[in-house]
Amino acid sequence: MVKILITNKNILTSVFQAPGRINIIGEHTDYNEGLVLPTNLDLYTKVTANARDDDIIQVTSSNFGQTESFSINQIAPNNPPTWINYIQGVVAELRENNIPITGADLVVSSDIPIGAGLSSSASLELAIAHALLGIGKNKVAAQKLAQICQNAETKYAGVNCGIMDQHSVACGRKGQAMLLDCRTMESKYVEIPANLSLIVIDSGVTHNLPDGEYNSRTDECRAAVKLLQATYPAIQALRDAPIKLIDQEKDQLGIILYSRARHVVTEIERTVAAFNALIKKDIRLLGSLISASHASLRDDFDVSCPEIDQLVQIADSCSGVYGTRMIGAGFGGCALSIAEASVTKKIVDQIRENYSKVLESEPWIHVLKPATPAMEVRHL
Ligand code: ADP
Ligand code: MG
Repeated sequence: MVKILITNKNILTSVFQAPGRINIIGEHTDYNEGLVLPTNLDLYTKVTANARDDDIIQVTSSNFGQTESFSINQIAPNNPPTWINYIQGVVAELRENNIPITGADLVVSSDIPIGAGLSSSASLELAIAHALLGIGKNKVAAQKLAQICQNAETKYAGVNCGIMDQHSVACGRKGQAMLLDCRTMESKYVEIPANLSLIVIDSGVTHNLPDGEYNSRTDECRAAVKLLQATYPAIQALRDAPIKLIDQEKDQLGIILYSRARHVVTEIERTVAAFNALIKKDIRLLGSLISASHASLRDDFDVSCPEIDQLVQIADSCSGVYGTRMIGAGFGGCALSIAEASVTKKIVDQIRENYSKVLESEPWIHVLKPATPAMEVRHL
């Protein structure tokens, strides 16, 4: 979080920001109490904040060109939810945790592509939370704040999200990836090697949460656990089921739940292997794990789409790319390529040229640089 103080005629304006995040590997594992490997993105949601002396919070989203306002004493989930519910959720959950919140005028602007799997939502929540804490001169530990923001999204925006996005944005470290155990919340950090380039490419196809398929996949995972529990009561989440057991119970699960469970369990194994590959700075091995992750998401979890599959093929055909996969909930959004840093420019040009033919316009491509963590405060 960066805080800039601008004083104008006794009005104190503060600016806060929180980064986006990209999950290197460990897709659809967080709500199965598994492991994930995110790193923060050097793209940010900025919130300009002025305190008010009433109980009204007025928010302008520059991205949407819309202004909404509400009383902090009258917050209830909407059906269907809209962007303001993410903010109302953060306010309600901060208050639920006995953090005093006063009225404020907030202006939000984000350079993270929205709805593309780069967690503009968690970034928004954390930036808003820091703004409200900052103008009220309150503090909450980063891990706790992540939980507050996850509750905000689950309860008020109707998205059954796991803890990864908020935890990564709140607790990520500059230039490092975080192996996060979503059950124990234990995290280990590893440097991103200098010869590794992380290239994010937007497929130009957008998913639509929460009405999309994300919640149905969480339901399927829950259904698989329930079936397994009937014979193995110790299984509390798919994380507890070894792949041998999933294979053994294939008939009982049926082909759909079997495939979903197989993705989750093998993806957790790949995530740990990817963390170890980063420790060894073995980017070829990391790339092969990323490719295996994409195949599993496409074939077993069934959350890819033709444009993403084409994009993955295009990226993987570039010399110096070791693996590419879809990222995010699925059905569009972005892909991530693991590449040799020295040839990044050539790769980006080649992907841009070849995917432009599929998209019929230039794709948005971003090469990651180390991101400023959400908890870092700088006065300018
Ligand atoms: P992702 O987190 O992958 O970008 P989500 O569907 O989880 O996608 O979250 C996107 C939603 O978050 C948007 O539809 C909107 O409701 C909210 N959001 C994110 N950034 C902004 C913003 N700058 N202004 C207003 N709402 C935003
Ligand atoms: Mg999100």
